[in-house]
Amino acid sequence: MGNAPSQHSDHTWHGLTAQQALDTQQSSTSGLSQEEAELRLQRHGPNRLPPPKRRGPLLRLLYQFHNVLLYMMMAAALVTALLGHWVDTGVILAAVLINVVIGFIQEGKAENALDAIRNLLSPHALVMRDGERREIDADQLVPGDIVLLASGDKVPADLRLLSVKNLLVEEAALTGESLPAEKSMAHCQADAALGDRRCMAYSGTLVASGQASGVVVATGAGTELGRIGAMLQQVQTMTTPLLRQIEQFSRWLALAILIFAMATFALGTFWHGQDPAEMFMMVVALTAAAIPEGLPALMTVILALGVQRMAGRNAIVRRLPAVETLGSVTVICSDKTGTLTRNEMTVQRLVSASRVLDVSGVGYAPTGAFHLDAALVEPDAALLEVARAATLCNDAQLQQDAAGSWRLQGDPTEGALHTLALKAGLDTPTLNQQLPRSDSIPFESEHRFMASLHHDHQGHGVIYLKGAPERLLEMCSGQRDADGGVQPLDADYWRRQATDLAARGLRLLAIASRAASASQRSLSFADVEQDMTLLALVGIIDPPREEAIAAVAECQRAGIRVKMITGDHAETARAIGAQLGIGVGLPAMTGAELELLDERSLREVLPGVEVFARASPEHKLRLVQAMQASGEVVAMTGDGVNDAPALKRADVGVAMGDKGTEAAKEAAEVVLADDNFATIAGAVREGRAIYDNLKKFILFALPTNGGQALIVIIAILFQLTLPLTPAQVLWINMVTSVTLGLALAFEPAEPGLMDRPPRAPNEPLLSGFFVWRVLLVSLLMAGAGIGLFLWELQQGTGLDSARTMALNAVVMCEVFYLINSRRIFASVFSLDGLFGSRAVLLAIAACLVLQALYTYAPPMQRLFNSTPLDLGQWTRVVLAGLAVFVIAELEKWLIRRLRLQPNG
Ligand code: ATP
Repeated sequence: MGNAPSQHSDHTWHGLTAQQALDTQQSSTSGLSQEEAELRLQRHGPNRLPPPKRRGPLLRLLYQFHNVLLYMMMAAALVTALLGHWVDTGVILAAVLINVVIGFIQEGKAENALDAIRNLLSPHALVMRDGERREIDADQLVPGDIVLLASGDKVPADLRLLSVKNLLVEEAALTGESLPAEKSMAHCQADAALGDRRCMAYSGTLVASGQASGVVVATGAGTELGRIGAMLQQVQTMTTPLLRQIEQFSRWLALAILIFAMATFALGTFWHGQDPAEMFMMVVALTAAAIPEGLPALMTVILALGVQRMAGRNAIVRRLPAVETLGSVTVICSDKTGTLTRNEMTVQRLVSASRVLDVSGVGYAPTGAFHLDAALVEPDAALLEVARAATLCNDAQLQQDAAGSWRLQGDPTEGALHTLALKAGLDTPTLNQQLPRSDSIPFESEHRFMASLHHDHQGHGVIYLKGAPERLLEMCSGQRDADGGVQPLDADYWRRQATDLAARGLRLLAIASRAASASQRSLSFADVEQDMTLLALVGIIDPPREEAIAAVAECQRAGIRVKMITGDHAETARAIGAQLGIGVGLPAMTGAELELLDERSLREVLPGVEVFARASPEHKLRLVQAMQASGEVVAMTGDGVNDAPALKRADVGVAMGDKGTEAAKEAAEVVLADDNFATIAGAVREGRAIYDNLKKFILFALPTNGGQALIVIIAILFQLTLPLTPAQVLWINMVTSVTLGLALAFEPAEPGLMDRPPRAPNEPLLSGFFVWRVLLVSLLMAGAGIGLFLWELQQGTGLDSARTMALNAVVMCEVFYLINSRRIFASVFSLDGLFGSRAVLLAIAACLVLQALYTYAPPMQRLFNSTPLDLGQWTRVVLAGLAVFVIAELEKWLIRRLRLQPNG
């Protein structure tokens, strides 16, 4: 090819006319050919922004040293070195290093998990290729591609607009201007500022409303967004309220411990007159023992792994704090179509002014026929007129693929209408040639109709209109009679028929038409507001998803109310709701009724309503606000651009990944890859499980530090020889944090998790129960450690042997306590409770191997002064662990017995 199309903005694209821009890009309105697009893709590279610069691995490793605790440990290493305790210096430095490496690996793990999730959210673009509309991954776009935009889309590349219909674009990402900018076709001054270039749509901005097409003039780093280096991908902060709480807690704890340690040192040396060097070693042991160094890092890993697990089940978390909020959700407000129902629509009934026809067949395949009271009816002129309107006033495309199955691109409601037309024997492509579309008003949930204007080749014009019956009844003055004439509209008849169809759970559409003049080439609202002729009503079946029925029941058991908010007819909504177990026996409320209520009365009636019909996005926002005002934690689903405010306002905004707009996804915390209600219920369960695992981990980890600290403190208080040297304390910390603690990250949801009520959102982490449990287990561990240490000393086995016993006792207690920790309140006395987690068993095995090495490997013996233990000693060690296990279970039993636990 001669001149390559331009990628960079060396052209002032906004200064060119649409045609000039097309010419420069060597493209046309029917788009590039697939081959040409592939060639250009090779030349220009994918339409992606270079990933944000990350710190290099070395820097990231070094950054791990930047931690108060590690500073303290390094200072301790320095002092021990000065004192000549070389072994301790070595071990402390090794501990620092191991900490750094673990932190480094864990951070990498967490980041990879989140990266993988980010990649799941890659946007799509609708383009013209080879003269056909096609949906492709946005990163496959090349300069010269023709992109079609609709409301809610994120503009996928820089575009020179070619056609524009009421296009409003939110350009805040680029210009900072919060009001949407109105776009038009006319080219502008070459020196116009970015925000004034009305004929351009820039990558990363959002289509607030309207439709447009445009030719790609720049992709990837060549776009304006790429040039200002803004990040297209959202940045995940790797923290949540609970994590922040813990981080703060460990910082305070570290400070408190430091002060305590210094006081102990001062007291010991100056008051008790102890040897400063020895006292210093004690204090180092104490700090090493008491500070939970691995806590925040490990919690991040637990969170990231949980989020990854959720992504595997189709719930993509865009903002990490949502994981915690999910666990305390009390109300889920869900859309109906596609989320609770299958979104596989089939027209089942067709009602005209004179008769009611049944339509047979299921799915999009056009196998089926029309029946009147079981007798076959051949399509007549009246039926063909309805079918023609249905398939022409339609933005979807239904095609048969090579394998013979029917594939739909676009709205399933419209797909059902194409199938209807095919069943009537119409051929849509031929029709489209005979009656090409001159203009249209696309469907929006707000106005609930779609209209299109067509002209045949003789210049006869016709307007087709389809939409919600209530809406169309206002727009029609006549109805088509059996002989093709027009009668005055019998609104009562149609209302009765509509109610009848809706009560069967069918989704309703009315279809109307009107002749238009040859000269009319554009369509406005005023053209369809009156004097239309109603042709028919169609009833469309959209069965509930089986899994949604089960998920609704599960949520209700879990104390979560499920509300359905739909644009559908009240009767349809109630009928479908009843099949799903939502709002059974309760009245449905329509958007119009909702509008009549003030805030207070709305709040009062809300608990008694579960089905909201004919509701629009503003109603969603009001509902969220009213429920939040009553103290509910609300999850709200949405897909359209206008749902964004409600999604943002909800505690957990849930966007549809498949049919949802980019605008909705950006506003949401969670995106459902499969648009399925069951996935929301699954995400709530997973959210609860992650929160539980974090709590379990804290409950497991803190007593380790508590127990060791108590051992050292008791030794100092009673002026005993230290049962654990600083090096040994660090060994315990390492062994347990590398092996045992991590196992809890893989803990699956507890069986009864969805049988208990939601967690109170303001439930403090360090509740009285937490303090009690940590203290109890700390005391038990300290008791086991000191007890065995003193017993051994009394038996005269020597200090090193006694210390080996103390260390093994503490570790063994933790091994057993890890099993206790798999359930916070429930008993683990079951096959699943004891052996159900492979991660736990593996961790225990690894830990035991490390302990065997510690006790028997000569280099370890040299380093830590450990000595071999005999069978009797091992028995005592295991018995100590077992005792902790039994007492911990007893405590749970007591709590269950006395019903002291906060949650069911
Ligand atoms: P949900 O909010 O649960 O997704 P919904 O899909 O039924 O509900 P809308 O898409 O807002 O809500 O549809 C509302 C009404 O508008 C429908 O009941 C139908 O009568 C009408 N309608 C739906 N789709 C179209 C369309 N493509 N063209 C014309 N009218 C439509």
